[in-house]
Amino acid sequence: HAKSAGRNRYAVFGPHMDELIRTKRDLEQDLRAALHAGNQLEVFYQPVYSAQSREISSLEALVRWRHPSKGAIAPDVFVPLAETAGLIDRLGAFVLKEACSTAREFPSLDIAVNVSAIELGQRHYAAQVFSLLRQFSVEPWRLELEITETALLDEAGVCEKNITALRDFGVKFALDDFGTGFSSFGRLQRLEVDRIKIDRSFVHAFDRPGGGVAVVQSIVGVAHAKGLRITAEGVETEEQSEILRNLGCDELQGFHLSKPVPKSSLRQLLGAETAKRTSS
Ligand code: C2E
Ligand code: MG
Ligand code: MG
Ligand code: MG
Repeated sequence: HAKSAGRNRYAVFGPHMDELIRTKRDLEQDLRAALHAGNQLEVFYQPVYSAQSREISSLEALVRWRHPSKGAIAPDVFVPLAETAGLIDRLGAFVLKEACSTAREFPSLDIAVNVSAIELGQRHYAAQVFSLLRQFSVEPWRLELEITETALLDEAGVCEKNITALRDFGVKFALDDFGTGFSSFGRLQRLEVDRIKIDRSFVHAFDRPGGGVAVVQSIVGVAHAKGLRITAEGVETEEQSEILRNLGCDELQGFHLSKPVPKSSLRQLLGAETAKRTSS
């Protein structure tokens, strides 16, 4: 009885699990191949706007993967995969190199790059960043590395050492998706970062009763008291943009202002923005 029930269970769940594991392994292989091939991965750039002047102040590099048969795969899917498959260093190096080359091409803009806690936990990470900046003649203060709270949880202290070395050199740091992790205001007081990026969930809660306005207001208060800059993520409407500007957010980012675009569209986008401002 038990045996047949067990077999039944296997029949229902077994192959499914099996398939999931195989799919994951296949995708890992495909990602490894993509890192070699070099034409499936591309870096897109989402402009970040000054809340006051509405000028573009920086670009955030966001990696894209066009899988040869599956089409576009979201970074929320393949970045974690790269982390567990030991591929995140190569992926991170690819994005950073692309971002440095873009920074050199657009000298008036700063550039932000997302960094996984695993990369930051590698002993030689800071040295690799220095060497890329030097190779592309990009001043260190034009680069901002976006980290998440997990990077600050690192027990071995390697992340912290890298952050300190990079900050001493002039590289900036932003805490991404702020408010979604363990961060408390107490922690915010001690953070060694230059900027807080308020997670889009707070921005999107503006229109709900008891929504995110009060939360954003207190984050802005504490952060500004510490001398940190604030970016609001996920700005999708003019109304949100207006509220965030009034709350004192320094920079705004979101589909309402601009979607992430390929590098080939940047010149046109920047030109159009300048034209829009000078004509209004
Ligand atoms: P993130 O760093 O918080 O990036 C913001 C994400 O929100 C991006 O998604 C962006 O396309 C999306 N977004 C921008 N404006 C809006 C908006 O108005 N509304 C909504 N709903 N979404 C908006 P994307 O590109 O899919 O990236 C997702 C996450 O993947 C990133 O979140 C980041 O954590 C990670 N990621 C992306 N590129 C890299 C990378 O090169 N390295 C690492 N380690 N992680 C990356
Ligand atoms: Mg980010
Ligand atoms: Mg974010
Ligand atoms: Mg995120």
